[in-house]
Amino acid sequence: MDAGISTTGLRVAGVPIGNDEWVQQFVQAKAAAVQVDAGKLDIISDGLIHYQMLRFCHNTRLAFLGRITPTPLISDIFAEVDATILEALCRKGTTNAHGEWTAVFRRFVDMKLQLPHFRGGSGVTPNAVSALSAFYAASVSLVQWLGLCSHAEQDFIDLASTWAPGHDLANPDQWSAPILFALKQAHQVLLTDFGCHEWSIDGPAPASAVPQIEGSSPNPAANAPQSASRNVVPYLTLLPPTRLYSTQTVDSNLDGNAKAPSVPAQRVITAHLMRFWPSHQYVLGDISLTRSEQTLGLQRSQRFKACPTDPNDTIFGLHFPTPATDSQVQADPSLKEKAWHLTWMPLAFLASLLPQRQPTRFTGEIWVIFFCQALGAPIPLLRAHAVARTQCVCQKFVLDQYGDHVLTCKKHTGAIAGHDRRNWLATAD
Ligand SMILES: [Zn+2]
Repeated sequence: MDAGISTTGLRVAGVPIGNDEWVQQFVQAKAAAVQVDAGKLDIISDGLIHYQMLRFCHNTRLAFLGRITPTPLISDIFAEVDATILEALCRKGTTNAHGEWTAVFRRFVDMKLQLPHFRGGSGVTPNAVSALSAFYAASVSLVQWLGLCSHAEQDFIDLASTWAPGHDLANPDQWSAPILFALKQAHQVLLTDFGCHEWSIDGPAPASAVPQIEGSSPNPAANAPQSASRNVVPYLTLLPPTRLYSTQTVDSNLDGNAKAPSVPAQRVITAHLMRFWPSHQYVLGDISLTRSEQTLGLQRSQRFKACPTDPNDTIFGLHFPTPATDSQVQADPSLKEKAWHLTWMPLAFLASLLPQRQPTRFTGEIWVIFFCQALGAPIPLLRAHAVARTQCVCQKFVLDQYGDHVLTCKKHTGAIAGHDRRNWLATAD
């Protein structure tokens, strides 16, 4: 295979083409190299750079293969790569102390590391998820493109019959080419396993939504706005395969009110799949995860209405328009309050690739403190203090393994002093 000579498959522009076994062997070899290389990054001392290298450089190495290979062939292989990358992150983030975690907590950690930032996660999207959405989006685009290139006025070359000879692309029941067959399979999986809905010209998309089956009821964070509909995910509407290949423009063959939706973008499909990903289901709810679930809630995207406590606050007025009063709105509805909001995603900074300066770097144990605290896990070096029952300088309490007391002890007067003291305790020999 490495020599490019095989009777069962060949590689064309990096794409494995052959029987299923050969394609799997090809992808397996690439995945094995990625898994081996993940361990080579352990020598990076800066935890944030290690995380970013894994997330942006390493976790994406198989994206091309995922996009062009039928998903059922490779999902198990990609799941192994995902597990390797999670293990590398946990190793660095705990100085290899993660082996003490319970299986319940490890499942939570794996989920939290993979969730997107706006849901309180670290954004390391699983390859197995992005491969499914990428293959579906790319294959749908191909069929649509072949349709667009087969207009009557463009019949100097019939791309569809050249690319898929003997196929009627407008009739998916007759699709037999492997990639088209796999597209039908992926479409069906999205409908049956991931709460997607097929658009129909006869009826509007359902107004309701499907319940998200992730975990149970996570503990809401104290100050995070919550709603009863948070665990309900809107349907994702897909075009039926029969409508993908159309030699007419969509608008010209439909009534005005029944305009077909566009095919969702890959990132939209990925975000939807992450709501239903099997390994993330039924993770939450265990009593031992109470602290971690509260942390997850606090790190979700939070949206605050921007309004001054004092209506006459001049500094606020410099940056935000003064909302009209009720009586003003009644007199002139055009003045209806246009509220300003502030959105904060606590973990979004992890995606920033700006160069770090010394005060903002996560060297050595500082990354371990951040990593463990973000998960609601004990901080390894503070745990030693807790076991030894080291007393705080206030002489009233012993240090705890999460650093909670140090962060709030009045002896350190202030959040920054408490934070710095906690870091000193966790890094001092
Ligand atoms: Zn104290």
